[in-house]
Amino acid sequence: MQNLRSKIENNFFNSYYIETLGCPKNKADSREIRVSMAHNNFFEVENSKKADIIIVNTCSFIKEASKETIETILKAVELKNNKTKSQKKIIVVVGCFAQRYEKELKEEISDIDIIVGTGRYREIPLLIKDYLKSLNFSSFSSDTKTSFALKKTSNSYAYIRIGQGCSRKCGFCVIPQIRGRFIAYDIEKIKNQFYDEKEIRSGRCVSEVILVSQDSVRADVDVLDAAIEYFSSFEEVKWIRLHYLFPEKKIFDLFYLFEKFPKLASYLDIPFQHISERVLKLMNRPADSRLFSSLLKEARLVRKNIEIRSSFILGYPDETEEDVDKIIQFLGENQIDKVSLFSYSHEDGAYAAKKFDDNISEDIKAERINRIREYHLKLREDYRKKIIGTVEEVMIDGFNKNEIEARRQQDSPVIDEVVYVEKKDNHNELKIGDLIPVKFTAAMEYDWLAEYDKK
Ligand code: SF4
Repeated sequence: MQNLRSKIENNFFNSYYIETLGCPKNKADSREIRVSMAHNNFFEVENSKKADIIIVNTCSFIKEASKETIETILKAVELKNNKTKSQKKIIVVVGCFAQRYEKELKEEISDIDIIVGTGRYREIPLLIKDYLKSLNFSSFSSDTKTSFALKKTSNSYAYIRIGQGCSRKCGFCVIPQIRGRFIAYDIEKIKNQFYDEKEIRSGRCVSEVILVSQDSVRADVDVLDAAIEYFSSFEEVKWIRLHYLFPEKKIFDLFYLFEKFPKLASYLDIPFQHISERVLKLMNRPADSRLFSSLLKEARLVRKNIEIRSSFILGYPDETEEDVDKIIQFLGENQIDKVSLFSYSHEDGAYAAKKFDDNISEDIKAERINRIREYHLKLREDYRKKIIGTVEEVMIDGFNKNEIEARRQQDSPVIDEVVYVEKKDNHNELKIGDLIPVKFTAAMEYDWLAEYDKK
C-alpha cells in the first residue's frame, strides 16, 4: 500500500479540506459536499495545508461576508502557490459568492481551478474528477470505500434544511437572485439529510437538530410537523430548533408545534429587520409592528420560557433618527431576548441599491447600532439577574482545559449565549451532547457562568 505522500507524488488527489463561511444554511450545504466527497473516496483533513483539494463554501450576504470570502480564497491561493514540489493543490470555490461573481472570479483569480454556484453540491466530486482527468491527474480510487470518519463532525448539533431559496423581495437582499425561488423540502428529503449526517458522524450522536431554510415560515406545516415528530422519535435527539421565521401571520399557525412537541426548543427566531413602518415599506417588508407585538405575546402564552431572537438593520437609505427611536421604543415595550444588529450594506443587484443612495454614513450606522445595543443590554439586566441561582439543564457543546462549554435550550449554537461550567475531576464521564443540570452563578454581558449541580 502506497503511503499518502507517494500517492500525492504520483499525481493522486484524494484529501480535501472544506472551509465553510456564512450562515448555518451553508453548513447544511457543506454536509452535502462532504457526504458526496466521501462516497467518491475523497477523505477530509482538518487542515488546508495537508489537503490536496481546498474547497471554499462561500457567503455573499453582505459586503463583510464577501470580504471574508475573498480573503479566504486568497489564503488558499497563497497555500497553493507556496506548495513544495511534491505537493499539488487545487482550489474549488462553491456557493453564494461563486454563484454571484463567477465571471469576476474567473477573470481576477486565475488560481481557482473550479467554480460551482449553488444547487450543485452533490456533483462537486465528479467535477473535480473530470477536472483532474483533463489535467492527466487522478483522484485516488481504492477499495477503501467510505470508511472516512469525518473528524470535524463532533458537534452536538446538526443543521437540517427544510427548504431552499427565497421568493421574497426584501430591498436589501440578493439571496433570491443567488438561490432562486423558495422550494419547500418534502419529508424524505429532510430525513435523507439526517441519514447523511449519521453517516459522516460514524455513530456519534446528534443531540440537537436545527431546522433551517431562508424562509422557514413557507415550509409546508404538515411536513414540518412530520419532521419534528420524526426527529423527536430518536432518543439521542434532545432538542429540535427552528430558525428564520419571516414575520407574518402564518407564524401563528406554527405555535401549536410548541405545545405538541416537548423537544421543540423554547426558541423563536423572527428577523424583524426594522420597526418603523416607513422604513419597512422601503424595505418591501411587512410593515405592521402591531403584528410583531402580538406574535411575541402569543409566543409567550404558548411557552412561558420561550426566548426570542430578532435582527435589525440600521442605516437603511433615508432612515431617520425618528425611525431609530421606533426600534428603541419597541424594544422597551416588547421583550426581545436577543438581538443581532447589522449595518446596512448597499449590495449590487439588490432593489435598494438600484433605487436609493446609500445616504447614511458608516459612522452614523455604527453609532445607531451601538445605541441600540447598549439600550438592549440594559433592558436585559434584570431578566438575566433572575436566572442567577436557578438550576436548569444545559447541553454540553465542548470542553476546554478548565471549563465545560454548554448552552441553554434558549440559545442556538454559535449565534447565542454560552454557559461556562467549571470543570472538576469527576466530570470526566461527561461527553458532548449530554444534558447536565447546572446552577447559574453569574451573568456576563452575554454569556453565563455556572456550576454542575450533580446531586
Ligand atoms: S426573506 Fe428577505 S432577507 Fe430573507 S432571504 Fe428572503 S429576501 Fe432575503
